[in-house]
Amino acid sequence: MSTRTKQLELEKLKVQIVIQGICQDLAETATNLVFGSGDIDAKVCFIGEAPGKKEDLLGLPFVGASGKFLDEMLASVNLSRDKVYITNIVKYRPPNNRDPLPQEKAAFMEVLNKQIEIIDPKLIVTLGRHSMNCFFPNLVISSVHGKVQKLKNRLLLPLFHPAAALYNGSLKKTLISDFQQIPLILNTI
Ligand code: URA
Repeated sequence: MSTRTKQLELEKLKVQIVIQGICQDLAETATNLVFGSGDIDAKVCFIGEAPGKKEDLLGLPFVGASGKFLDEMLASVNLSRDKVYITNIVKYRPPNNRDPLPQEKAAFMEVLNKQIEIIDPKLIVTLGRHSMNCFFPNLVISSVHGKVQKLKNRLLLPLFHPAAALYNGSLKKTLISDFQQIPLILNTI
């Protein structure tokens, strides 16, 4: 698919969220729809859980404290947010940053799967267990973090969520170390 076609298809998908009224209750308390950002031709796509306060205000994923940490990790492997694509499962901020509900995650799965198909990354990096469990419901993040999984014709690397790691020194070290897998994997595909 050409970049232009991808742009158009992603725009259609975004409009579809509004027209279909996906998670309308979240839409009503949110400021913005946070669809995704970055290079739509990227080889790697990061998937978080749901927007937080700053993401909601700016309409962009991972622009708060955990986003700053994600930027640092990207820089540590010679990447930046304009060279990757970043999105979330749930595209509206849940009130008071509560965890997304199972039905909210389920409601957005069709959109997320289409978004992935359009962008067509070789590698999906899930940030946190919610995102990983959308693709692999039975995997446990504490056992499989940093271990590459096969997802049809793509690879998936499950990582801890940057927000969880920010306040836990040992988790932070593990996440930084797991993150170093990304360029190695990208070099093989
Ligand atoms: N946490 C997420 O999972 N996504 C964001 O966009 C920001 C914080």
